Amino acid sequence: MVSPVGAFAAPVITDAAGLGVLVAALGVDGRRVIGPVCRDGAVVYEPVTKLSDLPLGVIDEQDAGVYRLKKTGDSRYFAHAVGPQSWKRYLFPPRQSLWSARRRGKGFEIVKDTPAPAPEYVFLGVRACELAAINIHDRVFDNGDFADPGYLARRGRALIVAVNCTRAGGSCFCASMNCGPRAEQGYDLALTEIVGDGGLRILIETGSERGAAIMAGFEAPLADKSDLAAARDAVRIAEEGMGRKMSQGARKALGKSLDDPRWDEIAMRCLSCANCTLVCPTCFCTSTKDLTSLDGKTAERQRVWDSCFTLDFSYIHGGSIRRGTAARYRQWITHKLVHWHEQFGMSGCTGCGRCITWCPVGIDITQEARVITESFVKGG
Ligand code: SF4
Ligand code: SF4
Repeated sequence: MVSPVGAFAAPVITDAAGLGVLVAALGVDGRRVIGPVCRDGAVVYEPVTKLSDLPLGVIDEQDAGVYRLKKTGDSRYFAHAVGPQSWKRYLFPPRQSLWSARRRGKGFEIVKDTPAPAPEYVFLGVRACELAAINIHDRVFDNGDFADPGYLARRGRALIVAVNCTRAGGSCFCASMNCGPRAEQGYDLALTEIVGDGGLRILIETGSERGAAIMAGFEAPLADKSDLAAARDAVRIAEEGMGRKMSQGARKALGKSLDDPRWDEIAMRCLSCANCTLVCPTCFCTSTKDLTSLDGKTAERQRVWDSCFTLDFSYIHGGSIRRGTAARYRQWITHKLVHWHEQFGMSGCTGCGRCITWCPVGIDITQEARVITESFVKGG
């Protein structure tokens, strides 16, 4: 049966073979499908052309400073949680050319390259916490006078196929940030894997006209009430499986605890390595680098990801204003959980847990927020 297409299409139910058909359909008309694949012991986001590229039956064991992939007999393709990469790698690349110049006589001329058109990405397997992160970047980069045209072009063309989580990663706490584990909006299509006696079934929901256009050529039966209930139950398992949560009141407590002794204690462990900011899907600080060819004939200015954990990041005339690690960690967490609200009207953290997993010494944002919040409450 062909699913009806109205404002959006009604939810349909399919199986692994149907998922394979969908993956192939996503990649037509020049679209570049990017999705989860296993590489170098991690699930990363890379080009996907067929179902077998996806990490079938792979789960990740995650904890503070711990990440391991494990192959199981699980029939799900999306049983893993988020890995070290996020979609910002594609929407807001780590290195972008701002302008270049070439020598001309005794002077130079600016090269006006016509930027290549933004690729038409399909992001396959976007989790609810990642949708929330993209929503945050929309707020950051679509901001009137200082809008980022490159981001907006890539974002505008990107098609988003969300996946509702049916298993919580060990570091996840999106439920306590109201960012997951179910994708509520901002997707073109959303998938939920349901494992039952009959094997894997996949609920496909449509969230936009673009998603409906993809589903117009997709043959699958309409989902019934029991399918919808099974999908809800599967996502509830992920929600109930989260072992971490952000403390209520952390925003107020952190903002009023700038002299808490805990900052110095964290600094004894923190390496200022910047891993937490590089894996974070919402961190967006950059710096510029000037590159000159060895023969001196060409030069280029690039915008590159930077981090508030580097000494140079807060360099102003006369030196860095955040020389110590305590000040840098405090800046990072208070920006995320306190000042981001004032700047962008929302939290800068979606509860994805990456900064916990990929911190080499296992510093946990939920634990640090809890310790300082409890100390604030006791002191207040
Ligand atoms: S601060 Fe940590 S948990 Fe929050 S969005 Fe960034 S990486 Fe994820
Ligand atoms: S908190 Fe962890 S990941 Fe972040 S800079 Fe410190 S040691 Fe590195």
